[in-house]
Amino acid sequence: MHILVSNDDGVNAPGIAALAEAMLPFGQVTVIAPKENRSAIGHRKTMHKPLRIDPVPFPVGGVRAYATSESPSDSVAVALLGFVKDPIDLVVSGINRGANMGQDLTYSGTVSAAFEAVIWHKPAIAFSLVDHSEDADYSAAAAIARQIVALGLYRELPPLTLLNVNVPPLPLEQIKGFKVVRQGLRTYNDTLITRIDPYGRPYYWIGGEAPSGDTTEEGTDLWATHNGYVSLTPIHLDMTNYAMMRQLQARGIEQLKPGDIPSQT
Ligand code: MN
Repeated sequence: MHILVSNDDGVNAPGIAALAEAMLPFGQVTVIAPKENRSAIGHRKTMHKPLRIDPVPFPVGGVRAYATSESPSDSVAVALLGFVKDPIDLVVSGINRGANMGQDLTYSGTVSAAFEAVIWHKPAIAFSLVDHSEDADYSAAAAIARQIVALGLYRELPPLTLLNVNVPPLPLEQIKGFKVVRQGLRTYNDTLITRIDPYGRPYYWIGGEAPSGDTTEEGTDLWATHNGYVSLTPIHLDMTNYAMMRQLQARGIEQLKPGDIPSQT
């Protein structure tokens, strides 16, 4: 088996080394990831400037590693479009420094790397550790990643679906187990910070406290990890709200003549 490993924290992040090492028992491992931290870059595709790819030294023996100049999804795309010659069986992304739960998924470069794989018809799993500290310990999350790949769940993923995994910040023996859950509800505690540059012009930072969220609603990723469980959430790239589709159809939108403005106020 040949596993492609990417992330958004950058090729030198400790989480990607832990994940690559955890994948080695399955066979061949190739790492391709942004040269620098690209967290919260979302699903960016670089179209208007060249991509650079360089081989880089990697702290795990037996792993070929490359750094790219742009985004996590660019990294996976170039690998799957032919930069990596050997056929790839599975793409894993992470282990991210910090959770990717709830609405985080729309910001996440970690999850977007997995989405890119799914777009190119490769099974993909995103792994995140619910610990944003610089000295976070990835060993339990790496053991969980190895276990999840060994289970072969990725072979059962339907088209356009990835598996999103969040691991609580606990030693392996204190993790209570696994919960298959839906996306929870994040709360972003962002504030707009306005400052003045030396020329008198305002500039802005999106600052504030780290995101929080509802950890009390049972059956969500936030609830599972808060209670010491690994969360497993299958994520579909079809973002359609089907219930709202039916509601719009019931409003008779499809029967309207284009340009007709209803007379009601
Ligand atoms: Mn990150």
